[in-house]
Amino acid sequence: MNNIIFFGPPGAGKGTQAKIISQYLNVSHLSTGDILRKKLLDKDELADELKLIMSSGNLVSDDILNAIVSTRLKTEKNNGFILDGYPRTIKQSEYLDNFLSQTSNSINYIFNIQINFETLKQRILKRSSEEFREDDKVDILETRYNEYLNSTEKVSNFYKDNHSSIFHEIDGSQQIQEITQQIKQILKKS
Ligand code: AMP
Repeated sequence: MNNIIFFGPPGAGKGTQAKIISQYLNVSHLSTGDILRKKLLDKDELADELKLIMSSGNLVSDDILNAIVSTRLKTEKNNGFILDGYPRTIKQSEYLDNFLSQTSNSINYIFNIQINFETLKQRILKRSSEEFREDDKVDILETRYNEYLNSTEKVSNFYKDNHSSIFHEIDGSQQIQEITQQIKQILKKS
């Protein structure tokens, strides 16, 4: 089974690597950011609420995220999944752990892509000129980065301390292909 979590600050390259590795392993790629961005197209009350939160760079509620992820994990039946952008809070990670143990499942690999804030800023500015994302602006990036430091980094540290054998640190300042190679080597070794 290949059940994988990608951690890292916004703009570290989680989404890019998760997509490449999901194709390589033939497993589902669950990007909560992409799923939420699709929901915005519904143009209903929930979409309006989500748009307000996401465009400010804050986190959407744990209940919404937990419901999205558990529904998707129940319906995707194949040889594994990659979580990209979830869990981002301790509550989400507790929910995930419970959900996985109830379904006799577990996480097999965690990749933590690390990168400094200055490099992130340059990347996000580049991405904002290529893709239109309302949250790819420097001031909003600061909010998203702070959400990462205040919330998500605590979650990745928890896994690092408690699941060190499956936790792998990746230097996100490398080229995309180099990062992919490093991840593939780790996957091949075990
Ligand atoms: P991302 O594409 O992963 O950077 O996510 C874009 C935005 O979606 C974030 O800034 C949050 O507003 C929201 N989001 C995505 N995943 C989560 C999550 N696990 N928990 C809370 N909010 C999330």
